[in-house]
Amino acid sequence: MNVSELLIGAYARFYSYTGILVMLGMILVMSVRLFASRRRKAYLSLTVSVAVFIAHYAMRLGMSLSEDGPHAWGDLTAQTLHVVAFIMINRAIFQLYNSTKKRHHLYFYFSLLVTMLLALFRANVHRLFEGSPEQLAALERIGLDLYLLLLIFAFFIVLPNRIGQTITYKIGLSLFFIIHLSHLINHYMLERPLAALTLTELYVPLVYYFILFVLLFERIVELMQASYRTAITDGLTGLYNRRYLMNKTAQYMNYGYAVSMLFSDIDNFKKLNDTQGHHAGDEALKSVARVIMEESEEIGIAGRFGGEEMVVLVTDSSVDMAKFSEKVRARIESEVGVTVSVGYSKSREGVTAEQLVAQADQAMYKAKTTGKNKVVKYTQSMAAAAK
Ligand code: GH3
Ligand code: MG
Ligand code: MG
Repeated sequence: MNVSELLIGAYARFYSYTGILVMLGMILVMSVRLFASRRRKAYLSLTVSVAVFIAHYAMRLGMSLSEDGPHAWGDLTAQTLHVVAFIMINRAIFQLYNSTKKRHHLYFYFSLLVTMLLALFRANVHRLFEGSPEQLAALERIGLDLYLLLLIFAFFIVLPNRIGQTITYKIGLSLFFIIHLSHLINHYMLERPLAALTLTELYVPLVYYFILFVLLFERIVELMQASYRTAITDGLTGLYNRRYLMNKTAQYMNYGYAVSMLFSDIDNFKKLNDTQGHHAGDEALKSVARVIMEESEEIGIAGRFGGEEMVVLVTDSSVDMAKFSEKVRARIESEVGVTVSVGYSKSREGVTAEQLVAQADQAMYKAKTTGKNKVVKYTQSMAAAAK
């Protein structure tokens, strides 16, 4: 068996359709799984459109294996399903990125309606026209075939800019265009199919569905990262939230790492809010957070603990906490226009994460009661005083 026989011979359709079905099966599992857990319309559209593609290729596979060759109604159904699936998959991709724009769905419904009308036309070609069987067969298919070409152009113009992964999406559509063009040339313009075009028709779809898989996979990762980020960060400052920070602190301490905790609280913040408004207060919070984030970037994890309380879990044990705390305090004083009182504490044997934070808070409180805008280190005597 030579290569061309293997690639475009009797079993070529079997290989190609089977490969495509495997890929579509993977996409289907992914989208069903997503829909089950998140119930978004986009995942439902995705699931349905992939199911329609699967129905289309399963029919084509069945017809390619059947002894009697293509069946008239089977071919009509398969061709219609192909156009429907193409419209629906693009709608699903659009929905993944635009969950609220209802108006655009009208276009999709309209294009589905046109598909149905063309399918109806195709079913009745024999009643409407006279001609040789070959002419009628060509006339049958050409309506939906040209319509699909039109749809590819329309989607190319309208959709890419409304979708996050513009380049990947454009590559996918271009491939689909190349596949369809090969099909059109092979079936309507040539006496005998050209091997190169048949190869394109049969195997480029595998690349197309692979790209579709990548597109969806990227989007899913993106969605998961976004929802994970909002779950662990504070919306105003971008710092980690209290729960995440406490979990991290406990984790480090359980592993036996020597960590330190810096606890800062803005001085007279209520007064700033009262005199300059909440917006100015928010801006000050963001600026303080930026300084703290910059300073802690390479040595630990910064978090917003409460209203105007920010903390740093310092995981680098070589950091000189007195110097570090003083640097944070001084930078805020000179760059933000508010001052902070800072306390810090170092972890010891038998101290829990909560206790470490409470100690740093106690030291900060000492800074507040002894004049504010300063750094105080936690000492054992504070524990005794607190009791
Ligand atoms: P001290 O120097 O003793 O810390 O005085 P303070 O006024 O900073 O302390 P207090 O705890 O009495 O006030 C904290 C204020 O922080 C109260 C609240 O209005 C403000 N605040 C808390 N969260 C936010 C926020 O997200 N945005 C703004 N603008 N203000 C906030
Ligand atoms: Mg406070
Ligand atoms: Mg305060």
